[in-house]
Amino acid sequence: MPTYHYRCKNCGYDFTEQQSFSDDPITVCPKCSQEQVHKVYSAVPIEFKGHGFYRTDKSSK
Ligand SMILES: [Zn+2]
Repeated sequence: MPTYHYRCKNCGYDFTEQQSFSDDPITVCPKCSQEQVHKVYSAVPIEFKGHGFYRTDKSSK
């Protein structure tokens, strides 16, 4: 599930939310309840470090 980064333009509250692709984006701030939240496209995405995939190579020689 992707993690989206949001920020409130009213109070500056910064938070992340795990949402599926089909979920509606959050528009209301959970802190001040103002409809001032916009999505932030962070330059540093939150993800697990290290080897994300371990490929089982059945045809390794
Ligand atoms: Zn706010």
